[in-house]
Amino acid sequence: MTTTIAIIGAGQAASQAIDSLRRSGFDGRIVLVGAEPSLPYQRPPLSKKFLTGELPPERLLIRPAEFYATARVELHLGATAQALSLADREIALSSGERLRYDRLLLATGSTVRRLVVPGAELGGIHYLRSRADVDAIRAELRPGARLVVVGGGYIGLEVAASGRALGLDVDVLEMSDRVLNRVVAPEVSAFFAAAHTAAGVRLHTNTLVSAFLPRADGRVGAVATLDGPSYPADVVVVGVGVLPEIGLAAQAGLACENGIAVDEHARTSDPAVFAAGDCTSHPSPRYGRRIRLESVDNAFEQAKTAAENLLGGSARHDRIPWFWSDQYDLKLLICGLNFDYDRVILRGDPASRAFSCCYLRGTELLAVDSVNQPKDYMAAKKLIAERAQVDTDRLADPSVGLKDAQRS
Ligand code: FAD
Ligand code: NAP
Repeated sequence: MTTTIAIIGAGQAASQAIDSLRRSGFDGRIVLVGAEPSLPYQRPPLSKKFLTGELPPERLLIRPAEFYATARVELHLGATAQALSLADREIALSSGERLRYDRLLLATGSTVRRLVVPGAELGGIHYLRSRADVDAIRAELRPGARLVVVGGGYIGLEVAASGRALGLDVDVLEMSDRVLNRVVAPEVSAFFAAAHTAAGVRLHTNTLVSAFLPRADGRVGAVATLDGPSYPADVVVVGVGVLPEIGLAAQAGLACENGIAVDEHARTSDPAVFAAGDCTSHPSPRYGRRIRLESVDNAFEQAKTAAENLLGGSARHDRIPWFWSDQYDLKLLICGLNFDYDRVILRGDPASRAFSCCYLRGTELLAVDSVNQPKDYMAAKKLIAERAQVDTDRLADPSVGLKDAQRS
């Protein structure tokens, strides 16, 4: 009998899983269910070159349509999986259809965290997760328009940079005392804050949105803040973080713990069901705790692991995470997680717009943020994976290669 592997969620992880399944010789049915109408596409350009119009729509797809045809994927796009029965191995779709599976991959990604304040439903207030979101935002980004960005994380800062490139007047409202608070050290936050200020963005930290105020035509006209001024706005983009999309899994009774809980083999609490990408939390042997990652690399790599194990393998997902962000002429590359660091060492002068920030616990290198320093990033990947001990004087000296900072 033909084996059916169903995949729910048609994003980064799903596309990779299909490729890996077919490359491994799986000859059965692959059924892909995706809520969005599009074939899997890349999200990173949505806040960068796709938002500014530099990347044409056809370049967004992760793989061309022919790939899915050749891989004989049965596509159910524009269809939401509304219920999952683990006992019957059956998925109920929004279209009313029911799909049976032998093995299932959940790749449902993340969903944006929404602001619950008065006026939240006004026209002109956008979130940014999908191609459709960007199409709606772009229609409103006219040169000279006043853009207020809520959140000084990745989305907020990338949208602010794109907004400046398009000639908009930009304010960023961030509730904590510094931008990129969740991911980098204060030194790196200060560098990015200065870069945005120099580019003409007005940054407002310690600023909490209390309401969106309408203008005469009912659209958003200003953003009110707690104990602070109101910021006039023609258009608002909110980027205040995401939540793992676990609704279907939780309703079906799968274990969830800050995401769909999977083991190192990407297997959920049901042995026939695997999960990969933003929607999961998984054990990290390197960091000694469960982690949930929101990154393309994690989606791709965990999907590869899941695909192998959907076919009966025993692959393990144990990667050093990495992330990137493009803002103006600045390429930020982050390697490793900086959990529990006790000091940072800067390599190079931030004023030169090329430097790295190294996170240490004792003399162990935990993570590195590099700005326009791809060589440091490459060397750091290896040292972090090896749990290398470093000589801190050599590490601080940018004339010494980062790889040569390892203690002999
Ligand atoms: P996704 O790609 O989000 O795909 C999940 C899909 O599942 C979605 O299409 C969703 O509609 C669908 N779905 C959910 N539930 C159901 C259901 N019940 N039925 C059917 N379909 C369902 N990461 C980086 O590493 N670098 C970057 O520079 C970067 N930039 C980003 C910029 C933006 C604007 C955004 C939004 C994200 C960015 N990310 C970046 C994060 C990265 O895109 C995600 O980590 C990645 O897309 C996760 O892949 P995924 O397959 O887990 O989920
Ligand atoms: P994020 O990186 O978590 O940043 C959200 C920011 O908004 C945080 O600084 C947060 O502050 C702040 N915030 C939260 N509530 C707020 C409020 N009410 N008012 C003002 N500020 C508030 O999330 P994101 O930027 O929205 O990104 C969403 C997803 O897209 C993530 O998965 C991210 O990884 C992904 N993404 C990645 C990239 C990249 O890797 N280059 C680029 C774009 C998007 P606190 O930290 O204090 O909570």
